[in-house]
Amino acid sequence: MSILINGIAVSKGIAIGEAYVYERERNEAVEYTITPRQQADEIARLANAQKKAAKQLRDLRKKLEPTTPADILAFIDTHLMMMEDPTFYDGTVNNIKTYSCNAEWALQKQGERLIQIFNEIEDPYLRNRQDDVRHVVQRIQDSLTNAPEHLPDASQLKGRIIVADDLTPADTLTMQHQKIAGFITEYGGPLSHTAILARNLGIPAIVGVHSARLLIKSGETLIVDGQQGTVINTPDLRSLKTYRKLKRDEISRKHLLHRLKGKPAITLDNKTILLHGNIDRPEDIKVLHQFDKTGIGLYRTEMLFIDKNEWPDENTQFQYYKRAVQRLKGQPLTIRTIDLGADKEIQDTIDHGPMAHNPAMGLRAIRRCLKEPQAFLPQLHAILRASAFGPVRMMIPMLTNIEELQQLFALIETAKHNLRERRLAFDENLPIGAMIEVPAAALAAYAFAKKLDFLSIGTNDLIQYTLALDRIDDEVSYLYNPLNPAVLQLINITIQAGKKAGVPVSMCGEMASDPSYTRLLLGMGLDYFSIQANALLEIKHIINNSKLSSLRPRVRKILEATDITEIEARVNQLNH
Ligand code: PEP
Ligand code: MG
Repeated sequence: MSILINGIAVSKGIAIGEAYVYERERNEAVEYTITPRQQADEIARLANAQKKAAKQLRDLRKKLEPTTPADILAFIDTHLMMMEDPTFYDGTVNNIKTYSCNAEWALQKQGERLIQIFNEIEDPYLRNRQDDVRHVVQRIQDSLTNAPEHLPDASQLKGRIIVADDLTPADTLTMQHQKIAGFITEYGGPLSHTAILARNLGIPAIVGVHSARLLIKSGETLIVDGQQGTVINTPDLRSLKTYRKLKRDEISRKHLLHRLKGKPAITLDNKTILLHGNIDRPEDIKVLHQFDKTGIGLYRTEMLFIDKNEWPDENTQFQYYKRAVQRLKGQPLTIRTIDLGADKEIQDTIDHGPMAHNPAMGLRAIRRCLKEPQAFLPQLHAILRASAFGPVRMMIPMLTNIEELQQLFALIETAKHNLRERRLAFDENLPIGAMIEVPAAALAAYAFAKKLDFLSIGTNDLIQYTLALDRIDDEVSYLYNPLNPAVLQLINITIQAGKKAGVPVSMCGEMASDPSYTRLLLGMGLDYFSIQANALLEIKHIINNSKLSSLRPRVRKILEATDITEIEARVNQLNH
C-alpha cells in the first residue's frame, strides 16, 4: 500500500528510485569512572581518536579534490577546523580530569555544552551550526569506539534514495560521487550544511522525517518531491506516471535554462534587464559564475566580521574585497558596508553599551557605524582601496534619513583624505548608493536618489519594518507577505523615485530571487535584479518570455487593489 510521508523540503527536484536504509554501526557513549592514574591514558586515547578522525576527513578531501569545487570542499574544511579547535580538545580533556570519566563521556559532555551555546544564538544560520558540532563529535566518537567508517560502496548506492538518521556534509559528498538519486533524513533543518550542500549539488532532499527508518525499508520504491517535502512510499502506477513526467519536464527545463547561460536577459519588447548576484563571501563568486558570469549587486560584508567574530583590520578587509574585485574581472562589485546588529551579531570586545530590548530597531547597520566612526573608517578605507582594482560601488544599509547621509558623506571624505595622505590609489568617483529597507527611506526615496548614485530595495527588512514583524520570529511569519499592498506601494514609490531622479534602482532582497514575483516587479518598472545564484537562469527565462507593454496595465491594477487575496490572484494570472 502506498503511503505519503511529510518532511521539510530542503533541496528541490524529484527523485524516483529504490530506498537504501543506511544504518550505521554505532556504539552509544557510556560513562565509566577512571582512576586518577588512568587519566593520562584516557587523554592519549582521545588525542589518537581526534587525529584518526581528522585523517579520515583529510583522506576523503584528497579523494574528492580533483573533481569537487573548492567552495564545496569548504564544508569538509569547516569540520576539520572545528575538530582541531582547542575548544573541542581542551574542553574534553578538562572533563576527563574534572569528572574522572572516560574519553567518550567527556567528549559527549563537551559536545552538549557547545550545542547549548549554539542553540542560544539568535542568528538562524549560526544556530544551525550545532548540527556541525554533532557531526564532529560523532566522528571522533566513532574513532574512539572503533566503529566502521566506510559507507556502502558505489554499486549499492547508485540511483538509490538514501534514508538515514542524519548525514554529515562528508557523507553527502561521498554519496553524491556514488551517484545517489536523493536522500531523506530524520534530523536536520534547511540551514544545516548538509541541506545547503544538497542544494548546491542539486540532490533532491527532505529532512526532518522523524520515523523515516521505521516507515521505509530498503528496496521499497520511493518518490521524493524535494519541492513539496513529500515522500511517497510504494507509489501506485498513477503517481509513478505523474512523477516520471514531472521528472522528464524538470530535466528538459534544466537543459533549456542551461542554454541561457551567458545570454542577456531581454524582454519580448526588447528591454534589457540587469541581473546580478548576491554573495556573502568572495568564494561565492565561483558558485554564481557556474550559473552566469555576472556582477554583484550585494556583497554582505558583515559575514567576514561574523566569521572572524571581531572587526577585522583595514588590511584584512582590503584583501577580501580586492580578491572579490579580481575574481569578477571587470564586472561590477557592490560592497555593502557592515550591517551588524539584530539578526547578524558578533560577540566582539567593543563596548556597545547595554543590550537593546529591540535590536532590529536599535543601533544596527549604518547607525552603529556612524556612532563608532573609528571602527567604521577601516572599512571605508578598505572599500575605497579595492576600487583601484576594478569597478566597485559602495552601498549603505538601513539609512533612515538624509542627515545620516550627510554624516556618511563627511566620513567618506575623511577616508579619501586619509588615503591621499597615505598615497594609496582609489576611485575618486566611487558610486555610493543606499539600501531602501526602512519605510521612512522608501517614502523619502526621491530625496535619497537626488543625493546618491543608486538605490537598492532590501525587501527582507522593508517587509519586516513595514508590517511590524520580526523577520526571524516563526510566530509571526504568517504575516510576512511581500504582496501586502503597503509593501507594494513602498516598492513602487522607490522605483518611480529612481526613474524621476534618473538614478538606477535595483532590488536585492529575497523577493527579487523569487520567480513568482518577477513579472510583477517588471511591470512595476524594475530593471535591475540582484539575486541568489540558483535563481539566475530561471528568472532570466521568465524575463525573456515577458512583454512589458502587456504587464504594465495589469500591474497598475494590482497596485490599485487593497485586498491581498485579490492581489495574489492577479499575480498568479500574470505568471500564467
Ligand atoms: C534586505 O533587507 O532585503 C537585504 C537584502 O539585506 P539583509 O537580508 O542582509 O538584511
Ligand atoms: Mg536588510
